[in-house]
Amino acid sequence: DPTRLGGQAALVTGASSGIGRASAIAFAAAGAAVAVNYRGSPDEADAVVAEIEKAGGRAVAVQGDVSKEDEVAAMFDEAEKALGPLDIVMSNAGIQKDARIGEMSLDHWNAVIAVNLTGGFLVGREAIKRFRAKGRRPDVSRALGKLVFDSSVHQIIPWAFHVNYAAAKGGIHMLMQSLAQEVAEEGIRVNAVAPGAIATAINAEERKDNEAEMLKLIPYGRIGDPQDIGRVVSWLVSDAADYIVGQTIFADGGMTLYPGFRGNG
Ligand code: NAD
Repeated sequence: DPTRLGGQAALVTGASSGIGRASAIAFAAAGAAVAVNYRGSPDEADAVVAEIEKAGGRAVAVQGDVSKEDEVAAMFDEAEKALGPLDIVMSNAGIQKDARIGEMSLDHWNAVIAVNLTGGFLVGREAIKRFRAKGRRPDVSRALGKLVFDSSVHQIIPWAFHVNYAAAKGGIHMLMQSLAQEVAEEGIRVNAVAPGAIATAINAEERKDNEAEMLKLIPYGRIGDPQDIGRVVSWLVSDAADYIVGQTIFADGGMTLYPGFRGNG
């Protein structure tokens, strides 16, 4: 079954909550051993590990701030020490710091670029180095390695009052494609998933204050669940998607159909 990930090891950044958590659980359900990265307190990551183990899977929590070069290297070391060489890496950690442009401080800008874009560079670069060091394992996967970025519909949809976030995700789009072009010949597949509005902590306030307005942007009529993304990513890193290279899979309930243009028919 090419959708299975048996015998493979995966690392997911920012995996103690939301989409990262759901993706780690989906990878484990497909048979991969999973390193669950967290930045601060280990409690939530430990709970994800416990949930995976309870379901019969294998997982380990690994600390590390994706915006710090030395912590990224240490996090990969820890993951590989526990699970063996990595076959799958998901760069997922991300933050929002929203402000109108007049009030957006350089600190707001730098914080989001550091995690959402530089973090993607650091994690992506380290993943590719580790895939190269590991070598091919044709018994577990056709690819030498699979790297997937968690981007956003905002890699193409402009987002007022969130210019730091949208600029970072636009950057991830070209980072992903350029890396994919650079390393495809080695058998490394680099891709992205672009979620629409998914119910996680990152947008809890927005959903509380503004759910009706958000739903107007989603033709399919519901906010997504983290599992909607976990299932897509689990497929994307599997051999079932072996010929997908340098692509962004939009999982957004139709948000990128720009439903405002439908009018009232
Ligand atoms: P979330 O807040 O639940 O998850 C983000 C995770 O990243 C948290 O676990 C957080 O601890 C971790 N993190 C933050 N900074 C970190 C750092 N420096 N190092 C390591 N980990 C760090 O929210 P989420 O929605 O699950 O977000 C995950 C990703 O999905 C983000 O990249 C986000 O931009 C993207 N995304 C989310 C949505 C959505 O609607 N929720 C839509 C599109 C894209």
